[in-house]
Amino acid sequence: MTIAEPTLTAGGPALPQERRLVTEIPGPRSVALMERKHGAVAGGVSTTMPVYARAAGGGVVVDVDGNSLIDLGSGIAVTGVGNAHPRVVEAVAAQAALSTHTCFMVTPYEGYVAVAEALNRLTPGDHAKRSALFNSGAEAVENAVKIARAHTGKPAVVAFDHAYHGRTNLTMALTAKSMPYKRGFGPFASEVYRAPVSYPFRDGGMTGTDAARAAISRIETQIGADQLAAVIIEPILGEGGFIVPADGFLPTFAAWARDNGVVFIADEVQTGFARTGRMFACEHEGVVPDLITTAKGIAGGMPLAAVTGRAQIMDAVHAGGLGGTYGGNPVACAAALAAIDAFENDGLCEAAERIGEIVARRFGELAASDPRIGDVRGRGAMIAVEFVRPETGEPDAELARRVAAAAHTQGVIVLTCGTYGNVIRFLPPLSIPLELLVEGLDIVATALRDVHTDSAR
Ligand SMILES: *Cc1c(COP(=O)(O)O)cnc(C)c1O
Repeated sequence: MTIAEPTLTAGGPALPQERRLVTEIPGPRSVALMERKHGAVAGGVSTTMPVYARAAGGGVVVDVDGNSLIDLGSGIAVTGVGNAHPRVVEAVAAQAALSTHTCFMVTPYEGYVAVAEALNRLTPGDHAKRSALFNSGAEAVENAVKIARAHTGKPAVVAFDHAYHGRTNLTMALTAKSMPYKRGFGPFASEVYRAPVSYPFRDGGMTGTDAARAAISRIETQIGADQLAAVIIEPILGEGGFIVPADGFLPTFAAWARDNGVVFIADEVQTGFARTGRMFACEHEGVVPDLITTAKGIAGGMPLAAVTGRAQIMDAVHAGGLGGTYGGNPVACAAALAAIDAFENDGLCEAAERIGEIVARRFGELAASDPRIGDVRGRGAMIAVEFVRPETGEPDAELARRVAAAAHTQGVIVLTCGTYGNVIRFLPPLSIPLELLVEGLDIVATALRDVHTDSAR
C-alpha cells in the first residue's frame, strides 16, 4: 500500500494551532514507520506514543499522517520557547552556515563564552561564577560531581529518594528508580548514598524543616559531612513525580551544606529556564545553590547542557580536567543564545505561571469530586496529578496509564511519571495558545471520567 505524503509544513508558530485528526491514531504512515523501527532500532529504546512527528511549533506536533496533536509534553520539558522557534531556527541556520564544529578545546569561539556569561548572569546568586558546557543533562550532572569532588577532596555524594539524574553509570547510581532506568545495568558507581526527601503527599505532612533535619541526621550518622563532597537535588523532583518538597526543605539543606563544607548542587535540568514561572526553580525559596546543572530547556531543542557555579569551586579543577569533543557545540550555543533571549524578553515566566494556574485550577476542581485524584501539585508549567485508589490511597499506575493512553488516541500528547508510575504530568511548551491548552485538559479530564479501573482489584 502506498500512502500519500501529506504536504510538507514548516514547524514553528506558523503551524495552524489546532487539534485536527485526519486518521486513527496512530495513522498508517506512523504504523509503517513503527514496523521499520522494530527492525532497525534497539528494543531498549521505547516510545511514549507510536506516532511519528514531522513538524512542531507553538502548542502542536504534526505527525507524518497529517494529524495535528496538542503538545502537553514539550519533548520532556525541552521546547519551552516553542518548537522550531523562529529566532532559534534563524540562529541555528546562520551559525551552521559559518561553522558546525571546531571543538572549543581546540579553536574556541565566542558563542560558548556568551552562553557561559548568560548562565552566570541568570542563575541565582550574585557571587562570581563560571560555567562549563556539555551535551546532555546526565553529562552535566557527572561533571558537577567531578567538580565538587575536586574542590572538596571528599568522595561521597548524597542523592534523594525519587531522584532522577540520568542514565550514565554515575547518574544511574544517583537515580532512585530501578525500572526502567537501572535494572540489570549495575554495578553502579560507588560512594553514592540516598537520603529521604520531603514528599508532602506521602510523608504525613512533615514540615520541610523537620524532613530536612531527619535527612541530615541520617547523613551525619551514616556518612559524615567530613566524607561528603556534595548533595544533589532537583528543586522539584521531575521523573519522580513532580514532588515539591515542603517549604523549608531546600533552604535548610542549603544552609547545612554551607556550614559543613558540602557542595549544594541543584539539578535544574528539568525545572530550569522559566518552566516553573521563575527562570530557575530555586528562586521560589531564595535558595542559592553552589552549583546548578541545566540542559533540557536551555537551547530550544538543540542538545546542550551546563554546570554553572561559584568561581572558586568551578576553578578547583586542573586545566584539561573538564571538556569533551562536542560540549558547547557552536550551533547549540547559537540556539541557546536565541532561546535565552526569548526566555528573558518574551514574557515566558509569566506564560508559565498562567499555564500553571489553568492546569492546577482545572484538576483542583476535579479533585474535589473525584477521589481518584490524590494530589495536584507543581509550580508554573510543571503541574502533575497523582492518582490513587480511593479506598487505600495506594498509587494507581493503571489509571494514569489508561488516562494517558486515551488522551493519546484523542490527539493529546501527555506524559506519565512518578516512582510508582501513577502520575500524569503537564509540561506544555510555554508558547502554547491557552485555548489549545484548555482543549487538551478537557480531553484528559474526559478520559479520566470515562476510564473505570476495576475497583475490585
Ligand atoms: C532529564 C534529566 C536529566 C538527564 O538529562 P539528559 O539530557 O537526558 O541526560 C538529569 N536530571 C534531571 C532532573 C532530568 O530531568
